[in-house]
Amino acid sequence: MDESGFRRTKIVATVGPASWDPPTLTEMIEAGVDVFRLNFSHADEARHRQAVKDIRAASEATGREVGILGDLPGPKLRVGHFPDEVVEVVAGSDVTLTPDEIDGTATEIPVPWPEMAEVLGEGSIVYLADGTIRLEVTARAGDSLTAHVHIGGPLSSNKGVNLPGLESGLEAVSGTDLAWVDFAVANRIDMLAVSFVRTASDLDPVKRRLEELHSDIPVIAKIEKPEAADAIEEIVEAAGGGIMVARGDLGIEVPLSKVPVLQKHLIREAGQWSRPVITATQMLASMVQEKRPTRAEVTDVATAIFDGTDAVMLSEETAVGAHPVEAIRVMDQIARSTEPDLPYWDWLFNRASQDDMEVSDSVTQSAVIACYRLGLETIVVPTASGRGAIIVSAHRPKVPVLAVTHSLQTVRRLRVVFGVDPVLHDQTTEIRNLLYECADVAAEYGAAASGDLIAIVAGLSDVGLGANLFEVHRIP
Ligand code: PEP
Repeated sequence: MDESGFRRTKIVATVGPASWDPPTLTEMIEAGVDVFRLNFSHADEARHRQAVKDIRAASEATGREVGILGDLPGPKLRVGHFPDEVVEVVAGSDVTLTPDEIDGTATEIPVPWPEMAEVLGEGSIVYLADGTIRLEVTARAGDSLTAHVHIGGPLSSNKGVNLPGLESGLEAVSGTDLAWVDFAVANRIDMLAVSFVRTASDLDPVKRRLEELHSDIPVIAKIEKPEAADAIEEIVEAAGGGIMVARGDLGIEVPLSKVPVLQKHLIREAGQWSRPVITATQMLASMVQEKRPTRAEVTDVATAIFDGTDAVMLSEETAVGAHPVEAIRVMDQIARSTEPDLPYWDWLFNRASQDDMEVSDSVTQSAVIACYRLGLETIVVPTASGRGAIIVSAHRPKVPVLAVTHSLQTVRRLRVVFGVDPVLHDQTTEIRNLLYECADVAAEYGAAASGDLIAIVAGLSDVGLGANLFEVHRIP
């Protein structure tokens, strides 16, 4: 397909002060955003509620429904408040880390964590601000610590604190996280990401709360701890919404040099389980300031796409950067330029697990094979929950997957899935009519023209096998 056609890789963009004004949100959708991420670690409920409203309004204005991903704070330690927007922590100086709620300065850093002096002692290494600042604890005095600054840098309110190899003892999911789950349900957020997951059971409190609220919001596990990478199979199985390769914290919690191999491993594992995967953080970091990315960043985005990611994510670039819309355009161009050269045929036979195949895996794989053998133009998947389209996508067909659904929420949730183009349509339940309707939708939508052959993959709910039916259909 040429570079002006359908883009398969999805773009997730974090909303923040640089992007939450309505005109910018609209421009970002027009530039190609598929999913907006609300980072609940920053800003309050009122601000995020307003962002949801503005995103929905921008979707309506542009005629393109996008998804909203809520990102729970999780057990992440953060520094407290700094009244000066940014202070410079100086290399070679000594600083005090205190659990008291003071206004922070370059030498007195509040860390609202009462157990700090119990967990940390002389020789403990502490990273601040996404690992850019490195401290070593030299002494303890009551609840506070003195630390020597090995690597300095700018620090501002709420920046992360990382302690590689140490357990902070914070609960995997706190009351604050659960309050954000309530917020997500009340505000019809489409997906929820859980931070700092270590084991599959760390997802349970969020899933339980969703169940209590009768919500089926898919849960995405953020992989940013070495323990999570070690337990990736059970986590991917438990995380129905997929995983995020959260390279920001991952690159502090494990040696930075291991991130590329881990990224490949995590993306491969998500593929094996037919789960969506988002690759995140510092993809176009220089664009926080600059109008153009570096060659290395462009190559990094393309590499994640070659690794088989469903979506690529922008964080600071769109939350606080100087060029949020341009960053989306750059992502869009990289994806379009990369996609013609992806190993679709190889992925067809080894991306999703070939062991213990279920009916739906086998039926959908057969449909994708037929696309190549018969030159089918598109695969149309009538789907209520979106699951059928996700399973088809897992085999990475080169042709677009047109997911036809009566559920607006499914349209929004499928925005994170590679190769899937979701379209809202009221469906009949009578199977023959349904197949004809799907063909009509494909034609109306421009996915296929009169005389073209298409694949339709459907699941008959009374049979209960997921996608159990595949028809080759000629557009009248
Ligand atoms: C990350 O660490 O890569 C990440 C996505 O998490 P956050 O931006 O919430 O720190």
